[in-house]
Amino acid sequence: MQLSADLIQKAVSDAHRAAMATKGGANADYIPYLASVPSELCGVAVVTVDGDAFVAGDTGFGFAIESISKVFTLALVMDQIGPEAVRTKVGADPTGLPFNSVMALELHGGKPLSPLVNAGAIATASLVPGESADECWARILDMQSRFAGRPIELSDAVNTSEQTTNFHNRAIAWLLYSAGSCYSDPMRAVDVYTRQCSTLITAVDLATMGATLAAGGINPSSKQRVIGADNIPHILAEMTMEGLYTASGDWAYTVGLPGKSGVGGGLLAVAPGSLAIAAFAPPLDSAGNSVRGQVAVSQVARSLGLNLYAAPAGGAS
Ligand code: GLU
Repeated sequence: MQLSADLIQKAVSDAHRAAMATKGGANADYIPYLASVPSELCGVAVVTVDGDAFVAGDTGFGFAIESISKVFTLALVMDQIGPEAVRTKVGADPTGLPFNSVMALELHGGKPLSPLVNAGAIATASLVPGESADECWARILDMQSRFAGRPIELSDAVNTSEQTTNFHNRAIAWLLYSAGSCYSDPMRAVDVYTRQCSTLITAVDLATMGATLAAGGINPSSKQRVIGADNIPHILAEMTMEGLYTASGDWAYTVGLPGKSGVGGGLLAVAPGSLAIAAFAPPLDSAGNSVRGQVAVSQVARSLGLNLYAAPAGGAS
């Protein structure tokens, strides 16, 4: 299908309307800051590999990146140590269990399986090179900024809210460490991981970050190469397997695009070679995915015919 600007804008506007008509879900409240974000906010954005942006709703509001940060720290570490080392040290399989599951670790000998669950993301953060937490953090923030094509900043309010309540993640880090799956001091790894979750991004930033993946690692706004193209298929495969928590299988079955959500209400889907779709709406379902975000992103994907598993219209030539 030829994707004209009019077609994409209509898909985005219609999807935003459909999302707004959808009720249900609740803000995450185990991180106090997230409970205070206005629940009615809803934004939808598409950015293409050529850098064209299409928006509807609250696409300028800065929300906490949360779990979506895992994708960009994974990209950083994969560029440093390569995809095989990521697979060996962290993993490349779905867990089938909630994002912060301790049982998933116990069931697999302390190996996290996926860099997109908390245990795997803490292990990945422990692989970021640096002499100190601040050095590792500077590299992560730089990577998020290069993906977004603008300087991304830490929110002190989000970070404080998380650092003072992240006891479960600290326990996960010690379990990882005891199993030999944490590659730095575990409390340093949690500190860095918690900071990476505490930056503020807009839906347009998120779509630009996804469009950088869709464009083979080149940011369509800055035109800078952010990561090696060879890493992209591995990152998108990890997103397919675990990007929407325990709903990742349903998402692949019904939408057919690699995605990643966060408990801040953000949701990203990537159509390789074409574009990225991002949505932000705080209320989550029981799996931890934005209720309105899923409606919006899946509707844009469907109306633009982006399912990766569908043969192109007209079949083989
Ligand atoms: N900072 C959150 C946590 O570690 C991120 C979780 C998420 O978005 O899935 O619990």
